[in-house]
Amino acid sequence: MKKIAVLRCLRTSNNCTGSGCLKAFNNKTNAFAVYEAEETELAAFLNCSGCGDVQMPNNEEGLRKKLDRLVTIGVEAVHLSGCTKKKDAQGEKHECPVITKTAEYLEQQGITVVRGTHH
Ligand code: SF4
Repeated sequence: MKKIAVLRCLRTSNNCTGSGCLKAFNNKTNAFAVYEAEETELAAFLNCSGCGDVQMPNNEEGLRKKLDRLVTIGVEAVHLSGCTKKKDAQGEKHECPVITKTAEYLEQQGITVVRGTHH
């Protein structure tokens, strides 16, 4: 059983149910289609810990704890939701730098990072 996690943007989670990510996971569509032949478990569905005026107390420490927990529970792949990319003034999307650092940390722990869930 392959353990998967989804990481999304705390700001976006304010007005997002996560249903698009969950539907894609449940139906093995979009970025989850690669698991078609495998048994999968959604072992975690977490937010980052925020930034700027929208953040959790002790956000860096809290985020690190969550990431280390993913390692402990044996998550093999973390999918970064589309909301972890933000549009610039020209309408082009760029990955949030906090998420880029987070992805690097996860990869250092031996976890595969996949960019995308359902779009
Ligand atoms: S750090 Fe990035 S992903 Fe997290 S809330 Fe801020 S903009 Fe969203």
